[in-house]
Amino acid sequence: MQIYADNAATTKMSRAAIDAMLRCMEEEYGNPSSLYARGQRAKEILEQARADVAAVIGAEPGEIYFTSGGSEADNQAIRSAAEMGKKQGKRHIISTAFEHHAVLHTLKKLEKEGFAVTLLDVHEDGLVRVDELEAAIREDTCLVTVMFANNEIGTIQPIREIGAVCKKHGVLFHTDAVQATGHLPIDVKADNIDMLSASAHKFHGPKGVGFLYARKGIRLVNLIEGGAQEKGKRAGTENVAGVAGMAAALKESAAHMAENAEHMRKIRDRLIKGLSAIPHSALNGDASKRLPGNVNFCFEGIEGESLLLLLDDRGISASSGSACTSGSLDPSHVLLAIGRVHDVAHGSLRLSIGEATTEEEAAYIVRNVKEVVEYLRGFSPVWRDLTSGKTPFIL
Ligand SMILES: *Cc1c(COP(=O)(O)O)cnc(C)c1O
Repeated sequence: MQIYADNAATTKMSRAAIDAMLRCMEEEYGNPSSLYARGQRAKEILEQARADVAAVIGAEPGEIYFTSGGSEADNQAIRSAAEMGKKQGKRHIISTAFEHHAVLHTLKKLEKEGFAVTLLDVHEDGLVRVDELEAAIREDTCLVTVMFANNEIGTIQPIREIGAVCKKHGVLFHTDAVQATGHLPIDVKADNIDMLSASAHKFHGPKGVGFLYARKGIRLVNLIEGGAQEKGKRAGTENVAGVAGMAAALKESAAHMAENAEHMRKIRDRLIKGLSAIPHSALNGDASKRLPGNVNFCFEGIEGESLLLLLDDRGISASSGSACTSGSLDPSHVLLAIGRVHDVAHGSLRLSIGEATTEEEAAYIVRNVKEVVEYLRGFSPVWRDLTSGKTPFIL
């Protein structure tokens, strides 16, 4: 059996997205900046996609800027808020310890440029507390950036409440909604979101394309100088096919959101129940305030990397932490942020299922994870020390 359970890393493109892209590549290959009909047809495709994307999150088409993906949108949003803040003498930014590196590394850069950054603690349940966030707001705070849903442990933050607090204090609010867009209902106006980042390949669109929503009145800085595309805020000939594919994928995801979520939640909870039966294991993040497709466990006494490789042999594609952290020896900053100690954090497994994941596949996953964890513990010196009482169990 071949099972793809790494949808938080990327998703398979939908048929609708592929068809929309093929049409642009084979027929509508004009440059949207060209004045003749072929160029104007490409421009129409671009603007229709902008309207489609905007409608899904309750924005105006003029508030959507196409980017090369989630990372670029995060960079541009944070840099723009920082620039706006600087003009008013405000150089303080609030975020959380478990953001994506596109956010954390941008904040690190800004610290070097003279900004102060407060990273809020994330509690054991994988959630930030709105009262703690409000207490961290200062006179000179120019931006709060908190992700909508975490890419590793799937926890969904109280976005609407955070947005309301930011609005009350006159602070800009950006959310990295890369994991949430197309999977959870989003209404940027009701949720009090000033800026939002999304990426097509996380909702069955193509890689290398995404968008930034920036509320009217926000002055974006451009990361790329050049032509006047995207109202002068993002130079370079538009990725028309990618944008069309993104819009097609998002429209489809939005149309089936409720039923998809219900199906995935059922499978997710079945996986959580099955894997909880493994001794000395623990679910990471709140059991219900999490993405419908996210399952993340720690198993004491094993290495997540070995677990992954053996699961791969059995046809299961999963992840240990995010794709960005694998390849490094440090355990996931997200698991450390929710208070997992190094040894435990090393033994993590993320299964991110999709709309297409079946009950049968879930049963196969549970059976194989159980077998592989048991097998690895069989020759793990760490496990021997734990079972002999030499070191105490943590989970
Ligand atoms: C994938 C991801 C990103 C990066 O998006 P890209 O389009 O790959 O640049 C940013 N934030 C989160 C939460 C993600 O999951």
